[in-house]
Amino acid sequence: DRNNHFNFSGGPGALPESVLNATQAAINNVPEVGLSLLGISHRSEWLRNVLDETEDHLRNLLSIPKNYHVLFLQGGSSLQFSMIPMNFLRGSRKIAEYIVSGYWSIKSVPEARKEGQVQVVWDGRDSGYKRLPKAEELVVSSDAAYLHYVSNETVEGLQFSYLPGISNVPLICDMSSDFLSQSIPIERYALIYAHAQKNLGPAGVTVVLIRDDLVDTIPSDLHTMLDYRTHIRGKSIYNTPPVFALYVVMLVTRWLRKDIGGLAAMAEINQAKADTLYKVLDESGGFYQGHAVQENRSLMNVAFRLTDPNLEPLFLKTAVENGFYGLDGHRSIGGLRASLYNAVTQSGVEALAAFMLDFQQRYG
Ligand code: PMP
Repeated sequence: DRNNHFNFSGGPGALPESVLNATQAAINNVPEVGLSLLGISHRSEWLRNVLDETEDHLRNLLSIPKNYHVLFLQGGSSLQFSMIPMNFLRGSRKIAEYIVSGYWSIKSVPEARKEGQVQVVWDGRDSGYKRLPKAEELVVSSDAAYLHYVSNETVEGLQFSYLPGISNVPLICDMSSDFLSQSIPIERYALIYAHAQKNLGPAGVTVVLIRDDLVDTIPSDLHTMLDYRTHIRGKSIYNTPPVFALYVVMLVTRWLRKDIGGLAAMAEINQAKADTLYKVLDESGGFYQGHAVQENRSLMNVAFRLTDPNLEPLFLKTAVENGFYGLDGHRSIGGLRASLYNAVTQSGVEALAAFMLDFQQRYG
C-alpha cells in the first residue's frame, strides 16, 4: 500500500513498494550509468545486463530448461494473438485448436482464423463464461497444429487448475494474468506468453517462453518484426525496446526471487489472499455474489456483484473514499472485481475484507 492507497485494479496492477521506490530513484539516476533511467541507450552494456539478469531470475523461478528461449517483446499479449498463428499455423495443413473460456480467449480466435483453420474445442458461452471445461469435456485431436488456452481469464475470474490437451500437441498458453503467481510444469508447454502489467511490471513488455523445436517450423515469408526468430537472434533488442519497463520487470523478478523466496512461497501467499476474500463472498448470505463457479475460481481476479446492482456505484465510491482503488469490473461485464496480483499484500486484502463486511452491515 502507498500511503494507505490500495491498488486492486485488473491491470496495470499493483507493484511491490520496494520496486516503486527503487524505480523512483532510478528515474533520477542509475548509479552504474550516471543517467536517468529514462535516457539510457538500449545498446548499452547496462541494458544487456538488465535483460540477462531478468532472464536468469525467470529461468530460476520457473525452472526453465535450456531448450526454451526467453524473449521480451512489445505489442502486448494482443499481438501474440496474431504472432502465434502467423508463426505456427500459416501455410499448415493442420488445424489450430482453441478453448474459448472468456473475454480474452474470445479475442484470440478471429486472429487465428486469418491465418488458417481453427477448431474451437470448447466454448463457455452457454454457461455465461462462469465455468471452465472439465478435462473429460475436451475433445482434442492428436494432429492439431497446437492447442491454445488462457490459464486465467482476467475478466471473468476463471483459472484452470489442470493442463488441457494431450502431450504430443504443442500447448500454447496465454498466462498474462497468472504468470509467476505459482509454479508450473514448464516442460508441458510449447509456448507461454504474458504481458508485464499484471504480476511483472508496467505495460510495454511481453514475456514469451518458446521451445526450441517450434522455431524450426516458422514460415520464411513473415514480416521481420512478427517472426519470433528475429527476436531470438536479436536477443530481444532487434529494435528499440522499452528500457524503463524492462528495468522494472528486472526489479520485480529480483524481488520475487530474493524477497519472496520463489514461486512456492508466492503461491502460498496468493492462496491465503484469495481465501480471505472469497470467505467474505461465501459468508455474505448472497449480498456479494461471485461470478465464477466455486471449482474454477481464480486466485488472481475475484469477479463479483452485489445482489442489488443499484448499490454498486455507492460501493465503488465508498471504496475509493477508503483508499481501495480499481474495484470496478471489466467494462464488458460490469459488476465488481478485486485483483489480487502478486504485489497485493495480505494486509491489504484484510483491509478490503473489513471494508466489505462493514459495507454489507450498513446496506445489507
Ligand atoms: N490476455 C489476457 C489474459 C489479458 O488479461 C489481457 C489484458 N488484460 C490481454 C490478453 C491483452 O493484453 P494487452 O493489453 O497487453 O494486449
